[in-house]
Amino acid sequence: MSIARSTPALYRPAMKIHEYQARQILSDAGVPVPPAEVVRTPDEAAAAFKLFSSPMCVVKAQVYAGGRGKAGFVKLVKSADEARDAAKFMLTHRMISNQTGPEGVPVSVLIVAPGVDIAKEYYLGMTIDRARNTVTLIASAEGGVEIEEVAAKSPEKVLKLPLHPLMGLQGYQAREVAYQLGFKDKLAAEAAKVMMGLSKAFLKTDASLAEINPLVITNDGKLLAIDAKFNFDDNALFRHKDIIAMEDESQEKPLDVRAKKANLNYIALDGTIGCLVNGAGLALATMDIIKLHGAEPANFLDVGGSVTADGAIEAFRIILSDPKVKGILVNIFGGIAKCDLIAEALVKAGREVGFKLPVVVRLEGTNVDKAREILKGAKAELPTLQTATDLTDAAKKVTAAVAA
Ligand code: GDP
Ligand code: MG
Repeated sequence: MSIARSTPALYRPAMKIHEYQARQILSDAGVPVPPAEVVRTPDEAAAAFKLFSSPMCVVKAQVYAGGRGKAGFVKLVKSADEARDAAKFMLTHRMISNQTGPEGVPVSVLIVAPGVDIAKEYYLGMTIDRARNTVTLIASAEGGVEIEEVAAKSPEKVLKLPLHPLMGLQGYQAREVAYQLGFKDKLAAEAAKVMMGLSKAFLKTDASLAEINPLVITNDGKLLAIDAKFNFDDNALFRHKDIIAMEDESQEKPLDVRAKKANLNYIALDGTIGCLVNGAGLALATMDIIKLHGAEPANFLDVGGSVTADGAIEAFRIILSDPKVKGILVNIFGGIAKCDLIAEALVKAGREVGFKLPVVVRLEGTNVDKAREILKGAKAELPTLQTATDLTDAAKKVTAAVAA
């Protein structure tokens, strides 16, 4: 993970974009970024190499994960043929890094950029420090691919500057940080300008994370941002249609994409018990009680207060398409979403997909009696369905069914 990670969101992780898009945002905010060509085939990569007529170029996989350098998906190349070969390799392999999990991520887009002769690498980042409730600037003179190691082993080498909520990053603060990083004279002024640009881009886009790693000094004394990463606050995306349009669904897990389309708050986890719950707090409580009874939840899923029957059915389909799921716990407090609607959706989903797994249902609230009737009526059709009297009873029943 990146060191400027913000607190994990309760719902799906923050929206991400590709490096080439992040470079554009930085460039628009006045940060010096080398040019880059976006390519999708080995031949396009070779053509891009020729276009730059630079003795060296860098070919970089565009994926929603870092750690590319160490994984071999950032390659320096010295000819069009080398560019073609590097592109061919990247486009035919999933990238597996310390940030992806063992299944890795698919690669379908690359950039080719003129190579830079690096004298020194720095780290700059901005995120929200949730303990302080402030935007925080993070900086280090030990930037590059080992930044996580630096942060873990020598935290004193990572500078953190909480910013005033209204004033934001001030010029004098940026200059002070630049001097602390060891920049001198003209470069100190330029580094401060980069920080101001980063801050401007962060605020303008409602980012939750913005990183330049590395910011480099070249051998001929120029300052350049050669890698960029932005995550965005989902709650502010409604006012950034241009950012929403950047999303690359091929980088997301298919179930996450489906859940998002159905307006479900879904996070896949590693356990065996699928949870279908309304309300985030109840979903967390459901996960807790499953753990208390010795099992692990397969997901966090809040279908929301105003879920429709179609939404609930899609939620069942999503849970059931996870092969790790061995049993399902439905925990609904009927308020805005009435119990009978959920019960009907449950029966419909059962008919449609067939419940081969134990499904334990705990319903309480509006129209609960009607809901119980519906479930009772479907008993013969759905033999793996059990009802529970309360949450503890539900947890006991589902963990026992999965253990059996
Ligand atoms: P990440 O590993 O996913 O963060 O990808 P980066 O874009 O940060 O690249 C990783 C590392 O590759 C950088 O820290 C640099 O050391 C190196 N690198 C990237 N671009 C260039 C370049 O143009 N020239 C040189 N010499 N090294 C580069
Ligand atoms: Mg990097």
